[in-house]
Amino acid sequence: MKMCIACGMPMTAIADYPLLDMSKNYCKHCAHKDGTMKTFDEKWHEVTLQYAQNHNVDNAVAKQTAYIILKKSTTTCLETQVVVDFLGNQNALR
Ligand SMILES: [Zn+2]
Repeated sequence: MKMCIACGMPMTAIADYPLLDMSKNYCKHCAHKDGTMKTFDEKWHEVTLQYAQNHNVDNAVAKQTAYIILKKSTTTCLETQVVVDFLGNQNALR
């Protein structure tokens, strides 16, 4: 079973994959409509908004917390090599 390299979600069903493509290492929540992966900044922005809304905190706090959440999910659930690949992709996108 794979886990999403961006959010750490276990991908147990083909429906969890972007465009039902099981060769992908990230889940549909971390993909754009066209199946490409969202960048860290895009995810960060999303999680920030969600967190601010759900916990009724101001944006600066939400942003900080979202960063920790995202960092944690990319380092605890994954093997080092995957993280390195992920960070490599992030840099390539910039
Ligand atoms: Zn994900």
